[in-house]
Amino acid sequence: MKQLATLNHFFFKYRYRFLLGILFIILTNYFRILVPQLTGYVVNNVVHAIDGTKANPLLNKEKQYDFLVKATIEKIDSQSLKAKIFWCSIILLLLALISGFFMFLMRQTIIVMSRLIEYDQKNQVFNHYQQLDTGFFKVQSTGDLMSRISEDVSRVRMYTGPAIMYFINLAAILCFSVYFMLQASPKLTLVALSPLPILAVTIYLVNTIINKRSERIQSLLSSLTTNAQESYSGIRVIKSFVQEKAMLGFFTANSEDYKKNALGLAKTEAIYFPSMALLIGISTLVTIMVGALDVVNNRGGTTVGTIAEFVLYIQMLTFPVSAIGWTASMAQRAAASQKRINEFLETKSAIEDPKEKLQPPLNKSINFKNVDFTYSNTGIHALQNFSLHINAGEKIAIVGKTGSGKSTIAQLLLRVYDPQTGEIMYDGKPLTSIDLAYLREGISYVPQDGFLFSETIHNNIAFGLAAATEQTVTAAAQLACIHNEISSFKEGYKTMIGERGVTLSGGQKQRISIARALIKKPSIVIFDDCLSAVDAKTEKEILNNLNLYLQDKTAIIITHRIFSLLEFDKIIVLDDGLMVEEGTHSELLARNGFYTEMYNRQQQNEHSTA
Ligand code: ADP
Ligand code: MG
Repeated sequence: MKQLATLNHFFFKYRYRFLLGILFIILTNYFRILVPQLTGYVVNNVVHAIDGTKANPLLNKEKQYDFLVKATIEKIDSQSLKAKIFWCSIILLLLALISGFFMFLMRQTIIVMSRLIEYDQKNQVFNHYQQLDTGFFKVQSTGDLMSRISEDVSRVRMYTGPAIMYFINLAAILCFSVYFMLQASPKLTLVALSPLPILAVTIYLVNTIINKRSERIQSLLSSLTTNAQESYSGIRVIKSFVQEKAMLGFFTANSEDYKKNALGLAKTEAIYFPSMALLIGISTLVTIMVGALDVVNNRGGTTVGTIAEFVLYIQMLTFPVSAIGWTASMAQRAAASQKRINEFLETKSAIEDPKEKLQPPLNKSINFKNVDFTYSNTGIHALQNFSLHINAGEKIAIVGKTGSGKSTIAQLLLRVYDPQTGEIMYDGKPLTSIDLAYLREGISYVPQDGFLFSETIHNNIAFGLAAATEQTVTAAAQLACIHNEISSFKEGYKTMIGERGVTLSGGQKQRISIARALIKKPSIVIFDDCLSAVDAKTEKEILNNLNLYLQDKTAIIITHRIFSLLEFDKIIVLDDGLMVEEGTHSELLARNGFYTEMYNRQQQNEHSTA
């Protein structure tokens, strides 16, 4: 439960709303509690009119009424029975209206407060997610991240809103009613209240079972949806492998499991209200019985009116008391959810913005000094004792087989990860002292798997630049040789990408990601194998365009193909995390090693396909 204490600063933030809410809860219950007293008075008057000896309203008048009720009684006590009943009915109606009005205000304050907290918390969690390093996202599943920001936050809201409201409500009504019940008859109070703890505990237990079952159902439902979703996405594979029947069988089995659990839940829920009604019925019955015996034997000043009053008190207490069981299990669930949220909020990013926030020019020298890097989640030693010096404005190519560590170099340059040993420096300044946002804004990076958002093509390209105009977007698309294809779409740059729009080919996606990178005005350009799905002719065209664009920039082009078009100042060859060769195209060819072998193989392929 101490997990929930982390929410206290939210309550403090909304303290005025919260206090106002508490005041409204108290007022609601105050006006409700007057109803039984006035009803008791009316009943006693009626009984007295029928049989004067059995009930004496004058005796009852000495009883400790609330001062408002007392004042009312003093006003109308001398009038005729008809007038008394008439006025009391009017006042009862008024009381219901007033307490209803305050109940409206109480929900308006407390429930609204919980929505505001939910909003704050969602933003807090989302913002924290964004601060965390990429390594974190590699380890955590997307589903888990999603459920913490949606489901867990909603459960916490059930605590900050309804649970707290019902709890204060119970406290208020309990204080008021027990006080006036004790005034009327301590003995009947005991009789009427004794079944209530049993009611609270029963409801708590039943609720816990219900919650467990619903959770199970929730997870079954989510696997069912995932199952269906995957089938729809992979429908082409399913059909071509004629696996429709197998998939249906799989789905039906999941569905069956879900149905069984849902029916079980319905059964548990079905005993909920009857058992509640039974307990309240018993409580009411016993109170009437004990009260009636007292009236008959003329004991303890109990009147028929007192019995009526108590029956109303029991009715009034039933819902709040049963809510306490519900509240307790809500708070428990909220605590579990808050614990999961806190786990993430307490996770510190492995990459932190440095205090110095240096902003050195990025297109000057870049230095790798004996860099060693191991991916902590897999233990793969991706880069070993890697040293490289890049001069201002140089064009560097990195070649090597898949898995040789090429992309890792790009990740380290962007400070997505920090190397375990060694140092990376921009213009002589350690990477770890450079302003992170400044660094990443200064680098145009085209990742290997260019991710595109389900948005328009325009917005995808303009993503890297807040103030992108139509002209700049078009210019970037022209540089990336994708403009003509975009123009051929019916809606041009307004075409949606993804589920609700066009399906792009791999090469088109790559070129849109290139356009997205080129729209920025960076100091460094890093292309991570982003021309792999582009045909040779277009590739040549793009590289031609780039020659001009890259003039004043440092460029690092990762590829597993060797371009003869771009003049590279230096080509480095990686193998299994080690730099095996380094030099210009002609130098490397002269060495007749790794590079030459790669080059020859590629020449052969090109000739055989041509
Ligand atoms: P390349 O880009 O040359 O194909 P990478 O730099 O992507 O190679 O990968 C180098 C090695 O590190 C590979 O063995 C790969 O499996 C591993 N690796 C790459 N990214 C990760 C990651 N995020 N977590 C764990 N291991 C990784
Ligand atoms: Mg790679």
